[in-house]
Amino acid sequence: MPEIRELQTDSAVYKTLLESTQAIPWKIDWPMMTFGYIGPQIEPLLGWRQDSWVSANDWASRIHPEDRERVVNFCIAQSQAGVDHEADYRALTQDNGYVWIRDVVHVVRNGAGEVEALVGFMFDISERKKTEEKLLALQKELEALSFKDGLTGIANRRQLDTSLALEWDSARHSQQPLSLLLVDVDLFKQYNDLYGHLQGDTCLREIAQMLSLALVGPRDLVARYGGEEFVLVLPETDGEGALRVAERCQRLIEKLALPHAQSPHGQRVTASIGVGTVMPSEGFSPQQALGQVDQLLYQAKQAGRNQIAHRAWLDMEK
Ligand code: GH3
Ligand code: MG
Ligand code: MG
Repeated sequence: MPEIRELQTDSAVYKTLLESTQAIPWKIDWPMMTFGYIGPQIEPLLGWRQDSWVSANDWASRIHPEDRERVVNFCIAQSQAGVDHEADYRALTQDNGYVWIRDVVHVVRNGAGEVEALVGFMFDISERKKTEEKLLALQKELEALSFKDGLTGIANRRQLDTSLALEWDSARHSQQPLSLLLVDVDLFKQYNDLYGHLQGDTCLREIAQMLSLALVGPRDLVARYGGEEFVLVLPETDGEGALRVAERCQRLIEKLALPHAQSPHGQRVTASIGVGTVMPSEGFSPQQALGQVDQLLYQAKQAGRNQIAHRAWLDMEK
C-alpha cells in the first residue's frame, strides 16, 4: 500500500515541520472543548507541560486576568460565527510571569458546515510588545517635554496658551474670576552683562523655582512667557488673592538674595509684577487680558521697578 506509506511519511514530515517552527501549533476539538494537540514548543515558552493542556479551560485560566474576559469572549463569538481571527494576550507562565502571545485561529467546519475544530498558532510577541511599550513611553515623554521650558523645567509658552484657553472657558462658564500675573526680572540685561549668560540662566532657573512655590490653588500655573518674563495663571482667584500671590513672589525672590551689583534695590535681583483680574466674557480674549497686565507691568517699571502694579478688574474697553 504505497499510498498509505506516503501519507504516513507526509504526516511525519508535517509533524516535524510544525514542531520545529517558532510558532506553537495547536488544535481544539470544538464540541468537546478539549485540546486535540499542542506543540511541544509550549513547554520551553511557558513552562507548562505539553500534556497539561487538556481542556479549553486550561487555556482560559492561563490568560492574564485583565485580558481573559475580553479574549475568551471574543474567541468564542468568532468561533461560533465561524470566522477566522486572532487575539493578543498575556499568557501565564508556570513561574508566575507573563508572555505576550498572539493567537491566530482558523475555524474548521465539517461537511454540514458545523464548526468542528479550531486550529491555530501561538506566536511569542513579547519582544514586539516591549518595543511598542518603549515607543509609547518615549512618545509620552516627548509630549511632556514639548510642554516644558527647556531651561527652567516649568511650563512653556505652549502649555501656557493651552491652559489659559481652558481656564478662560471654565471661568466664563462658572462666572468665577481669573487672575493673571506677569513677572519680569528687573535690569536683567545688566545682570547678564555683569555675571555672564550662564549665571543669567541659573538666575532664571532659581526664580522659576521660587515662583512655583508661590502657587496655592490646585490649578494654579506658572509658565515661562519668554526671556526673563513669567506668567502666573490663577483660576478662581479674585484681585485680593492675586495681590497676595504677587507679594509672595516678591518675598520669595527677595529670599533668594541673588547679588546684582547694579541694582538700586539692595544690590539684589528683583522683579516687577503686573497683576490683573478678569471675569472672562465673550469678545474678551486671554491675549487682550495679558496685554493689559503687560501695561500694568510697564507702570511698575516706570514707577522704579521692584514693585507690583495691580488692577482689580480688567475690562474689554481698556
Ligand atoms: P527691565 O528692568 O526694564 O525689565 O530691564 P531688563 O534688562 O530686564 O529688560 P530687557 O528686555 O532690556 O532685557 C532682557 C534681557 O534678558 C535681555 C536678554 O539677553 C536676557 N535674556 C532673555 N532670555 C534669556 C535667557 O534665556 N538666558 C539669559 N541668561 N538671559 C536671557
Ligand atoms: Mg522683559
Ligand atoms: Mg526685565
